[in-house]
Amino acid sequence: MDGLAPDGGLYLPDTISPLPEKFLKALPGLSFQELGFEIAKVWLGDEIKVSDLERLVWEAFPFDAPLETTGNDIYVLELFHGPTLAFKDFGARFMAQLVGYFVTESERELNILVATSGDTGSAVASGFHQVPGIRVVLLFPSGKISEIQRKQMTTLGGNIISLAIEGTFDDCQNLVKQAFADPTIRSKLRVTSANSINIARLLPQSFYYFRAAAQIPGRKATVFSVPSGNFGNLTAGLIARRMGLSVEHFIAATNVNDVVPQYLKTGVFKPRSSVQTVSNAMDVGNPSNFERMLDLYKNDFRKMSSEIYGAAFTDRETVNCVKCMYDETKYVLDPHGAVALLGLQKFKAGRSSDAAKFPGIFLETAHPAKFLESVQPAIGNRLDIPERLQSCLQRPERSITFRASFEEFRSFLLDLD
Ligand SMILES: *Cc1c(COP(=O)(O)O)cnc(C)c1O
Repeated sequence: MDGLAPDGGLYLPDTISPLPEKFLKALPGLSFQELGFEIAKVWLGDEIKVSDLERLVWEAFPFDAPLETTGNDIYVLELFHGPTLAFKDFGARFMAQLVGYFVTESERELNILVATSGDTGSAVASGFHQVPGIRVVLLFPSGKISEIQRKQMTTLGGNIISLAIEGTFDDCQNLVKQAFADPTIRSKLRVTSANSINIARLLPQSFYYFRAAAQIPGRKATVFSVPSGNFGNLTAGLIARRMGLSVEHFIAATNVNDVVPQYLKTGVFKPRSSVQTVSNAMDVGNPSNFERMLDLYKNDFRKMSSEIYGAAFTDRETVNCVKCMYDETKYVLDPHGAVALLGLQKFKAGRSSDAAKFPGIFLETAHPAKFLESVQPAIGNRLDIPERLQSCLQRPERSITFRASFEEFRSFLLDLD
């Protein structure tokens, strides 16, 4: 329930032990939900009754993480088959199930406050929609997110309230921070956040690394290329490897916000303000999970840089990659997946033939229809919008517009009950 530890640090498991060899051997025969349940049992089996945990996993994931081949021993792990078409569904939906499970034990309604610049808000809203005992208050910067992203947040209704704030994403985040610090709000309402540093969002992301490897013929060690912003996704991969997944190499692929690839080259970590790019979910200048990566490597730079390869790409390279992939294979990438594919190609090109022959998997973190503005011109063609996205485009929108004023937001919250 607490995203941050009392000293301001991020939670990590004390120990991460390898899963039994029997489980690893059985992987190819397990569905995503079955293997997710087995892994969840390791983390949560002593906190949640096993039959309840199994139900939670199936509720959280009514979809799979399929692996498609694109030829030449390169595979794409599609992480956009959830309800909001981005990989954030994996973490947000699992966290929603856990919070819903524990909140029923207390009689007060839990209010989840989320400031969002786009994808996180819709995944959290969809995950918590109709979960009893929970209300979600989303704050988004009015006019600064895409139409599809806005509709995904404002058409759910019920226990989801969306506030269009006349300001920037930073204004939204400040309002939420002030609310958490306000003693009257804290005493009258139960409030918490669902931001991406919560360990409940991180752990379930390890499931799909196992699912990916299980779909590669012959149990070979693989190379994973991860398009990264806050590095939660890559950190989940490092945890999967500690749990016994056979990984030859990780690739930290970024847009020009490249503080981690720079660190992997120089050993110096220099956060800076973020720059806007076409892969906007990765526009992060001070990645919050970097401290978890350091901890997992016990601050051993040489070890980290020998196991993780960093690579960064410009918007021009990214859009060109979307175009080339479409021309060659008709597969449509989104800009984030394109950054990951570029990372994998660069890694393979720079290696001797021996190391280059490991199967490579790149993570496709969003459906291209979420980024019509950059994808359609790149492929020179129109994209079909998936049905689950279309249905929300037709429902009526409901949101309340607010100035970026804490006084107004505060009285709104205090009037909720
Ligand atoms: C959030 C996001 C990312 C970055 O993931 P991190 O875990 O923050 O590194 C990549 N792609 C998409 C589509 C995202 O929404």
